[in-house]
Amino acid sequence: MLVARELVASGCSVTLLDRSKFGQEASWAGGGIISPLYPWRYADAVTVLARWAQSFYPSLQANLLAETGIDVELVASGLLMLDADDAETAKRWAIANETPMEDLLAAELRIREPHLGPDFKHGLWMPRVANIRNPRLLKALVIGLLEQSRVSLNSHCEVQGFRVANAHIESVRAIVNGETREFGADRFIVCAGAWSRALLRESDPGVEVAPVKGQMLLFRLQQPLNRSILLTAGRYVIPRQDGHLLVGSTLEHCGFDKQATAQAREVLLKSARELLPALKENEPIAQWSGLRPGTQHGIPYIGRSRLWENLYVNTGQYRNGLVLAPASARLLVDILLERTPIVDPRPYALPA
Ligand SMILES: Cc1cc2nc3c(=O)[nH]c(=O)nc-3n(C[C@H](O)[C@H](O)[C@H](O)COP(=O)(O)OP(=O)(O)OC[C@H]3O[C@@H](n4cnc5c(N)ncnc54)[C@H](O)[C@@H]3O)c2cc1C
Repeated sequence: MLVARELVASGCSVTLLDRSKFGQEASWAGGGIISPLYPWRYADAVTVLARWAQSFYPSLQANLLAETGIDVELVASGLLMLDADDAETAKRWAIANETPMEDLLAAELRIREPHLGPDFKHGLWMPRVANIRNPRLLKALVIGLLEQSRVSLNSHCEVQGFRVANAHIESVRAIVNGETREFGADRFIVCAGAWSRALLRESDPGVEVAPVKGQMLLFRLQQPLNRSILLTAGRYVIPRQDGHLLVGSTLEHCGFDKQATAQAREVLLKSARELLPALKENEPIAQWSGLRPGTQHGIPYIGRSRLWENLYVNTGQYRNGLVLAPASARLLVDILLERTPIVDPRPYALPA
């Protein structure tokens, strides 16, 4: 949807096809943290997109509010990473990337977060990290696109394949209400998240995108227990403005299965209660899962197909698809419209 928004702003007409309702899959399921977790552990190609997007998000929030009346609640809650065993690497990365990061010792941790569990000894504090209500972002994007005369949104429309002649796609074949329909266009873009590989198998068999399941829990609290996002050993708790608290997340390689499990519930509960022991008084009110689009090299694919000249791809953002989304969309549209790209596009190119 951000790609469509970017294309429309550039004067293009766009037809979106989704086999479900728009904005119901991983982008809905995610935590909405506008930063990679442990950002120094990612390739520079991820960092440059994240930085671009982080500075873009405030204007996106303001524009969506003005256009749709929906506040996506971009809140700079900060991110507190506890007992990371590579803190020195983190600090070097922060200096090199001009990103604010502070060392906090045990006593300072409790001043910042009085309800924090007793076992944590050290923290890395990134005050500028924000979180967003991603379901609201998706809702605002849908409403914003519905307002546009040059956009056609087609939900419950499952793309099954392409009609190709001379390395040029002429149309996509989709199932709508049990019937096959063809949709023509000048150019086609695959951004089908964890399901992208099936659509690229013929054109770009080297694009390896695999589903990585993540489960989340939701609490509703009478009183907030934390001000910032707290993170330890890959698990986090995210405070929302309205008293909800999100707990994430698991990393499971089990194909396209989206079942929520009792085992994940226990694992997430244990981590959340280590971070915030007062959560022992509460039970989660919801549990869900989503499928992240994972790539083998940890970098998304953003660019043109190697085989079919009018096919483009924007997928594989893995754990970072919300933070990277505006930058990924802008880069893809820069490539498609042959504009000067916001960042060097080569690291994201599809494999030969
Ligand atoms: C538990 C969890 C927590 C996360 N937390 C964060 C976070 O805090 N911060 C962050 O930046 N990222 C986070 N992520 C990652 C982020 O959610 C994903 O990287 C991102 O949502 C991927 O976006 P996408 O549009 O590529 O995929 P999706 O949002 O999954 O969308 C893909 C769309 O393609 C459609 N589709 C698939 N196949 C077809 C077809 N054949 N025809 C038509 N339509 C099709 C689907 O219906 C779907 O609507 C999290 C993910 C999970 C699961």
